[in-house]
Amino acid sequence: MASAAAPMSALTVIRAARLLDGRGGPPLEPGAVAIQGERITAVGRSDEVPAPPGARVLDLGPRTLLPGLIDAHVHLRGWRTADPDDILITSPPLAALRAAADCRRLLHAGFTTVRDCGSHLGPDLRDAIAAGEIPGPHIVAAYRGLSQTGRVATVTWARDTTPLRQHADGVDECRRVVREQIGLGADHIKVSITGRVYAPQSEPGQTAYTPEEIRAIVEEAHRMGRRVAAHAQATQGIKNGILGGVDSIEHGIYLDEEACKWMVERGTALVPTLSYFYRIATLGEQHGAPAYAVRKAREVVEAHLASFALACRTGVRIGMGTDFEGSPLFPHGENAMELELMVRAGMPPGEVIVAATGTNAAILGREADLGTLEPGKLADLIAVAGNPLEEISRLRQVELVMQGGAVVCSRIPGIVPAEVSRIR
Ligand SMILES: [Zn+2]
Repeated sequence: MASAAAPMSALTVIRAARLLDGRGGPPLEPGAVAIQGERITAVGRSDEVPAPPGARVLDLGPRTLLPGLIDAHVHLRGWRTADPDDILITSPPLAALRAAADCRRLLHAGFTTVRDCGSHLGPDLRDAIAAGEIPGPHIVAAYRGLSQTGRVATVTWARDTTPLRQHADGVDECRRVVREQIGLGADHIKVSITGRVYAPQSEPGQTAYTPEEIRAIVEEAHRMGRRVAAHAQATQGIKNGILGGVDSIEHGIYLDEEACKWMVERGTALVPTLSYFYRIATLGEQHGAPAYAVRKAREVVEAHLASFALACRTGVRIGMGTDFEGSPLFPHGENAMELELMVRAGMPPGEVIVAATGTNAAILGREADLGTLEPGKLADLIAVAGNPLEEISRLRQVELVMQGGAVVCSRIPGIVPAEVSRIR
């Protein structure tokens, strides 16, 4: 994976009171990580990671070091209102500039990687960030998400023009559109297989694509080495997705025992996005969300929390994602609130941190480079004050962000970001 390299290749050793490596074991106290260039060379207790003469040593004192956070479900599309037609009243260059600002916010909030689950801007933002043109997380981009005709239009004249989604119906057209998205830069395929909360014409309990269409999409994506993330809220739609071979169920509002059993057997991941529905239900009205979205979010919140608890109990592989897209209702930069909600919903803090780091990297298929602090991986890491295992909200106040061995954001006196020097 391309990454902005550290300006010099001298060894850097970072020490802190505590280190969580993203794999879920007990914390290393005190812990240290050694970095050469853009990659990690050693991780261990501080006395196991010596600093040779000439090494740069950063002592973070009482802070906790952990892998850079990953949000497995965002949309980088530069929205600034709760209007689902925002895209139709915003010029494409302005949307792109706003999305670039959101990328910086995400990075400075400790999110060193995100998976975009549907935006025409994703591949270009990904490439600009990888080239060091603008600061931002590594992006795994979907380009446009697939949707069956009639599921996503909010105003009829624009139903075929949305740059966020691509309609496809029938097995042959689904295959063609998967190929098209990959040709246009998609790293993974996003498909909507049930109704949704934030659209007027459907209910979250309704199914969308047929099992045959889903199987065709998955087969075509997998043939080309791409994973498939499925927007799936209704029980039958979720089951169609699991049996059809999708790699992750996004949202999963109405899970049942059978769906969870199948997910465990097949290794299908769940990305719950608790904060998305929570924010619509509690803050939607004040931010001008459509009445139908507020109604539906309030109707599904309890069932969603019950499904999340069921998934935790039955051993489903759970990642972390927000579905934020940049508006005040879904603000990039505040994505770590999802971790707090997961803890509040009953998942232990240590497991939530693994969901947002090691597990998410695996869901994205980037575990060779990302997600844990281990020798050989990219030096994407963050530091927070105190102990997030005791106080998960610490992750909303990230004090240091390093990406590919370069400090890209620091609120610690004496540690200066290298970001400026990376701009060519
Ligand atoms: Zn989404």
